[in-house]
Formats: sequence, C-alpha cells, structure tokens
Amino acid sequence: MELLKKKIDTEGVALSDSVLKVDSFLNHQLDPQLMFEIGKEFANRFKRSGITKIVTIESSGIGPAVMAGLHLNVPVVFARKRKPVTLKEELLSASVHSFTKKETNEIFISKKYLDANDHVLIIDDFLANGQAAIGLIEILKKADSRIAGLGIVIEKAFQEGGQNLRKQGYKVESLAMISSLSNGKVVFLEEKEEELAR
Ligand code: 5GP
Repeated sequence: MELLKKKIDTEGVALSDSVLKVDSFLNHQLDPQLMFEIGKEFANRFKRSGITKIVTIESSGIGPAVMAGLHLNVPVVFARKRKPVTLKEELLSASVHSFTKKETNEIFISKKYLDANDHVLIIDDFLANGQAAIGLIEILKKADSRIAGLGIVIEKAFQEGGQNLRKQGYKVESLAMISSLSNGKVVFLEEKEEELAR
C-alpha cells in the first residue's frame, strides 16, 4: 500500500534496529484519511471471507479496526488490557507478552461478544513476534469462533511472528512489510519478496 509506505518513509522513526515509531499517524496522533484507506484495503483483501466480526487489541489496533469494520459493515470488538470494574459478565482471557513494554499482561474480551457463529478478522497495528496475535487467537478459540485471518498495518518481516502464523495456516495480510530497521533506515520488502513471504 503505497500511501502507507510513503507515510512511514516521511514520518517513521527507527528508534532501534527493531522498533519503529509512528506516533504521528498511528500510535498517538491518528491520520483519519489514512486510517480510512487502510480500512478499505483490509476490507478489499477480506471481502470474500464472510467476516462477521473484527477483533483487535487496545489501543492502537482500534483505529484501523474500526475503519475496516466500517467498510465491511461488521462490529468491532477490542480486547482490554485491564479488567474493567464495569465488566461483570463472563470474560475470556489470555496472557500476552508485550514486545515494546517487555511485560506480560492478561487481555480480556467479554464472552457475550463472541460465539461459534462468528468468522473473525483479527486486526492489529504491528506484527513483531506474534504474541498479541497468539493471545487473540487463544481467546477466539475459547469462544469457538472461526478465524478468517489477520490484517496487519505494519509487519516487521525480520521478526518471527508473520512466518510462524503463516506456517500454522493463517492468512496474514500486511499492508507494509519491513525487512530492516538497521542504522536508523526503514527498508521495505520488495514486491517479489513480499509474495514469497506470504
Ligand atoms: P508482537 O506481539 O507481534 O510481538 O508485537 C505486536 C504488538 O507490539 C503490537 O500490538 C504493537 O502495539 C507493539 N509493537 C511491536 N513492534 C512495534 C514497533 O516497532 N513499533 C510500535 N510502535 N509498536 C510495536
């Protein structure tokens, strides 16, 4: 997705060899027009999958997930990283190790928003080692929901998450795939390399 790659090129900052900062349009300030286009692209890639619901994780997955939900006309559920006092109903949970925060936390989704009739598209902002995705998959399995695939805004292809999920048979669609962040420089996978990675 050229628009997204341009935005990463001009505004992304490689904080280290493995962390990309994109606070100006995805992780702090949001660019609604870009989010709209991202949602449209996800909808395009999954329009024939019979999606009934989108599941993401707070907070940075919510922007792209809502826009995909708008284009696919399905509800969006986000996993919470803290158990809210207002959530009295039965909860489904999984533990997730955060790549950026280096800590393990429980994530929660109310049982009433997922069931065996759901065919779910998982959306997240980044895919690194795949821990967030694995946690969401665990919750969806507990709910007996089916998983249509994963839509990722930025995949860091030099980390193992994408490869592992694809090996397990999941369809993973990433809108920008990064092959390296070394020496402060963002390098994208070539189109041919992207196809091979898929
Ligand atoms: P994973 O669970 O795949 O290891 O990491 C994905 C999660 O960690 C995402 O939900 C995202 O919030 C965060 N994350 C991983 N890598 C990066 C990164 O390079 N930059 C930012 N801003 N967040 C990241």
